[in-house]
Amino acid sequence: MLIDERSCVGCGECLKYCPMRAISLEGETAKVDQDLCAECGVCARLGVCLEDAFVVPPELPWPRSIRSIFSDPLTEFEATGVTGRGTEEMKTNDVTERYKPGWVGVCVDVGRPNVGCRLRDIDTLARAIALLGVEFETLNPVSYLMESKSMGALMKEVLDERVVSGIIEFTIPVEKVVEVVQALKAVEGEVDTVFSVGVISRVVDGDIPARRHLESAGMSVAPNGKTNVGMGR
Ligand code: SF4
Ligand code: SF4
Repeated sequence: MLIDERSCVGCGECLKYCPMRAISLEGETAKVDQDLCAECGVCARLGVCLEDAFVVPPELPWPRSIRSIFSDPLTEFEATGVTGRGTEEMKTNDVTERYKPGWVGVCVDVGRPNVGCRLRDIDTLARAIALLGVEFETLNPVSYLMESKSMGALMKEVLDERVVSGIIEFTIPVEKVVEVVQALKAVEGEVDTVFSVGVISRVVDGDIPARRHLESAGMSVAPNGKTNVGMGR
């Protein structure tokens, strides 16, 4: 995002709306720190600038275009045709019975508004879990950006890109779910952001096998139910 310095009157109104704290006042003019900006589009879209000073770039060059895909809910990721982080997310995908019997989906939500993350952080976490032989979800921009799925390694040219958040998605046999959490915990100090882990599992005759595995390993679980009425099919 850019600001037209000739239009900006330095009122400072836009600063509080930027979820990445990328806008600051320099004298009488607001500036966007291009390294911090995630190209989420919030500042321009909200219409808070009465001077209409925000300049939306017509097209972002590669690899900066990645920022918008992960951060602007209106930007579509061409390969999946999905807006908003480029994935329909596994809790939706499960409706179509894509998981093998005995397998569960796992999503790792990396970053969040006001914190953000670099794709370098996503790379660190993806590499840690790739060692367990997970199957990365194909319809997800993180997986598209991998130069090696077996290593969970993202393309080097995207590692410094800053985004609001991204989701790593993969499937794994349910008995490996504890190892996944342990692998992520082992590298949590190496990432400069926050992340949360979700396990997508059906309730089978009142039992959630993934929950059993995690709780028997001493891990606390916060179940979050979703009743599907079948429209996904
Ligand atoms: S709201 Fe507009 S005029 Fe005010 S500081 Fe931001 S860009 Fe400048
Ligand atoms: S596009 Fe988003 S991150 Fe960039 S300056 Fe505007 S609100 Fe901040």
